[in-house]
Amino acid sequence: MGTAQQYVRRRADMVGRLRERGIADRRVLAAMAEVPRERFVPRELADEAYLDRPLRIGAGQTISAPGIVAYMIAALELAADSSVLEVGTGSGYAAAVLSRCCRSVLSVERHRQLARRAHTVLRELGYDNVAVRVGDGSEGAPDCAPFDAISVAAMARQTPPPALLAQLAAGGTLLCPVGRSHRGTLVRVRDGHVERLQAVAFVPLITGDQPNGS
Ligand code: SAH
Repeated sequence: MGTAQQYVRRRADMVGRLRERGIADRRVLAAMAEVPRERFVPRELADEAYLDRPLRIGAGQTISAPGIVAYMIAALELAADSSVLEVGTGSGYAAAVLSRCCRSVLSVERHRQLARRAHTVLRELGYDNVAVRVGDGSEGAPDCAPFDAISVAAMARQTPPPALLAQLAAGGTLLCPVGRSHRGTLVRVRDGHVERLQAVAFVPLITGDQPNGS
């Protein structure tokens, strides 16, 4: 485990690398300089928290690499008062970064244990504008819709889940990786207009009709 000071330096170095790679959104960079990524990974992996790669977080799931977290949040083009739905809380790291860039985040995770752990860390760090809910995020959260932005952190097979598109506010942005076997394309939908942004790898989005998912 590094010292608090070492983590501050590693975070600053990580932000420097993100900037070099073309992430220009100031709010995203500031958020990533602030959120202690080492708190969102298993204790034994804390020293690897600032490498630009995904890490195992248990339950067969991963925390995304910092580069893709930054890229996705920048691509949402959030406003300070945006309400955001995240599908796939995982470690809670992306939700924490998102929470620094908008008004509120509702994050849905199907693994109860991951959701509970993420909730605990987010509370400990005082990120009080994030709520974590257990459930099938491909159904969205109709009781809290519409959302100004929806970020899906797991790979849909063919298209973004229709329920999510229906819960997007007018002019809102949805991001969803689409593809198979961990290889896919990040798709952005806004006002019915679909853009294919870049190649990405994600764990699969497990929907209600796939009971073998857990
Ligand atoms: N954003 C996360 C990484 C997400 S990994 C982070 O920062 O750590 C993808 C997550 O999506 C996994 O935790 C997986 O359990 C979850 N997931 C997969 N299908 C889901 C579904 N239908 N609803 C909610 N969560 C789902």
